[in-house]
Amino acid sequence: MKHLTHEQRNALAQQLDTMRQQVLDELRNSAPDTFAHSALNASQEVRERTDEAEAEREDGVRQAEIEIDRRRLEDIERAQLRLSEGRYGTCATCGLEIPAARLLAQPTAIRCAACQAQLETRSR
Ligand SMILES: [Zn+2]
Repeated sequence: MKHLTHEQRNALAQQLDTMRQQVLDELRNSAPDTFAHSALNASQEVRERTDEAEAEREDGVRQAEIEIDRRRLEDIERAQLRLSEGRYGTCATCGLEIPAARLLAQPTAIRCAACQAQLETRSR
């Protein structure tokens, strides 16, 4: 992480913090057991969700969204940990330093652009 300036590290830390807050807000909004959600939508849902299958499908969609948010949160927290431990910004595949511009555009990136592209080509 020597290739990152103090300012860049601060910017990344701040960006990760903002991202984390956003995901937490989203999780709070989409979690079915959240008080705010049930208070706002309970009466409306009872009327609209007479069809059980439809209700289950919607729950499935919501669960999938929560799952995506959880994974994003994990990625963000892992990046924060790497940053605090000073092993941030190194490609997980080739071990080279990930350019600062890429990290600033995507703070949770764990691979350099070349390795990421190769990975995506292979999994397709
Ligand atoms: Zn790489």
